[in-house]
Amino acid sequence: MNAELPSNITFLQRGVLHSNSILVHDDTSFVLFDTGYYTGAPALERTILERTGRTLGDLALIVNTHVHPDHTGGNAYLQERSGCDIVTSEIDGMLVESGDPVTLMRDWADLRCPAFQPSRTVRPGETLAFGGVEFTVVDGSGHSAGEVSFYAPRHKLLICGDLLWQAGFSNVVPLVEGVAGLARHERSLTGLKTLDVDIAIPGHGPPIVGREAVREGIDRTIETIRFLRSRRDRWATTSLKAFIVMHVLVEERVMRRDFVARCARSPWFREQAARFFPDDGAIALLDGLLDDLLTRRVLCAHEDGTLTSTLHA
Ligand SMILES: [Zn+2]
Repeated sequence: MNAELPSNITFLQRGVLHSNSILVHDDTSFVLFDTGYYTGAPALERTILERTGRTLGDLALIVNTHVHPDHTGGNAYLQERSGCDIVTSEIDGMLVESGDPVTLMRDWADLRCPAFQPSRTVRPGETLAFGGVEFTVVDGSGHSAGEVSFYAPRHKLLICGDLLWQAGFSNVVPLVEGVAGLARHERSLTGLKTLDVDIAIPGHGPPIVGREAVREGIDRTIETIRFLRSRRDRWATTSLKAFIVMHVLVEERVMRRDFVARCARSPWFREQAARFFPDDGAIALLDGLLDDLLTRRVLCAHEDGTLTSTLHA
């Protein structure tokens, strides 16, 4: 895949739980876009060394597409060992400063993110240059309010976080970003159509290679957004299922009965179920969602009553 990328850019594709990371090198140092979930930080350090020969002493800067824990979880670990700066969007800088457990997807989502502080923030329209690659910051809001993409016009390259994936839609959490989040996500995708992109590197999954494939991906995602906007029940169940899969991946293996009881008590489930499915019992709703994930083989049930995910963490 790296054949498609400039020689001083390394793409590290990771599993579902951890965002992908992208390195941009110059002769003596490198910049890292996104750092995965915190449990994977030591593994990311090892992968960087294996793939590029770089140690964290060479890490000059972390840049985050947005501040969800699966994109920023490694920030604190990597900064501690490198003394690097951290750049987020201006809005994300404000969110981090607020410590809000809901919009940051931390306690409310039952996810962890070791504390970090951005040293600098950027706005859409500003540029960020490193290793001979000049990136323009592009509005990517929707999936999260402060999300940004990074576009390198000379290389026709886009780092697009959770705005655009090759397969599927990253989702907008209904109770957090609301319908306005879906609308913003569509607007951000429409904005991408004005850019000349030959390769888009998403926050999860493989790169999207070729102008046509990027276009198709944008159109497909907009269709999904419009469908979800018209079907609030499907929007909510899609989001709840994404949380369930994420938590199975975090815990690796869960006892189904205990897991259902834990989810039923968690704010991400309780509050969204109360809003979107007020007439359904929590346990029945969770069992239905789990059964659907089992039917689709996203989850796998074992004889001892445990569940695992078929997806690679
Ligand atoms: Zn995200």
